[in-house]
Amino acid sequence: MKATITHKGAIILGKYVACDAFDESKPLRVVTHAHADHTIGLQQSLRACEKILMTKATKDLIDVIKGPLFLMGGYVETLDYSKTLQHGEERITFLPADHILGAAQVLVEDAEGTRIIYTGDFKVDGTHVVDTDVLVIEATYGSPTCRRSFDKDVKDLLVSLVDEGLKKGTVYVFSYHGKLQEIMQLLHERDVNSPFVVPEKVFHVSRACELHGMRLGRLILSEDREAKELIERNAPCVAFYHMNARRKFGQGLFRVYVSGWEFDSPCREIANKEYVVALSDHSDFEGLIEYVRRSKPKLVITDNFRFGHAETLAREIHKRFGFSAVALPRR
Ligand SMILES: [Zn+2]
Repeated sequence: MKATITHKGAIILGKYVACDAFDESKPLRVVTHAHADHTIGLQQSLRACEKILMTKATKDLIDVIKGPLFLMGGYVETLDYSKTLQHGEERITFLPADHILGAAQVLVEDAEGTRIIYTGDFKVDGTHVVDTDVLVIEATYGSPTCRRSFDKDVKDLLVSLVDEGLKKGTVYVFSYHGKLQEIMQLLHERDVNSPFVVPEKVFHVSRACELHGMRLGRLILSEDREAKELIERNAPCVAFYHMNARRKFGQGLFRVYVSGWEFDSPCREIANKEYVVALSDHSDFEGLIEYVRRSKPKLVITDNFRFGHAETLAREIHKRFGFSAVALPRR
């Protein structure tokens, strides 16, 4: 097979490329984007691989998430979207994926002209779908139960929910790196002018996003006196934290979790002043199927290593289109 997924989560494309986890047999390691489930074994790759490839934006994000010295442990080469790197008889090209800043799809064309693509994580709306022979696709929302029919109004809802909360005081927003900044950008665009309070890591990720053209509004470090005073008085400001910190901050206050794992309604109150908003940076089931339809592959591999519904998705693809689809690695 020209592509596979290993038991360590590496997506193997052609002869030379391993994406998103370490594989000892491949000289090139690709990082499709800066999320933790796609930087698996990066330290080993830095030590062992000839080259680590990623977009410049992904490199800047990893520099702030893991510290500026981390990537110096190996040879990192940045590759712009649509630029091609030749390695041996194969060609490697990154294409934009609508997910977080810097996210890329990886296209490998081998000596026989076979086109092998790995989508990485993506939302189909803003992602360029390419014709392919072998398609490796993410499967986060790969079950027909994961359908969002309300995508359009979610942003409006989130903005009005935050506006509503600001009337009562501080609004706490919990999400992930990359998506937090997308939310800041959205609120900034929609003239939510209250200050944004952020802890140090979120601050640095935000600065990296700004370097790459995102506009996020006024950020204050949560350690600064101004921020501490705002938080203490429960004054109108928006405090942004990583989802992992949700038990530590803003207990009992106005809280918004922004997460894709929500399909029944775009906004749900889960407790008093506590809301889940379904703003996702992944395709839902229909989006995944749409990608497959438009890319017209001969073989599909669904990612059964990362969290999601790979086996169901492979079954559904086979049922709808008739061509081979397999979830890898097998469990
Ligand atoms: Zn991701």
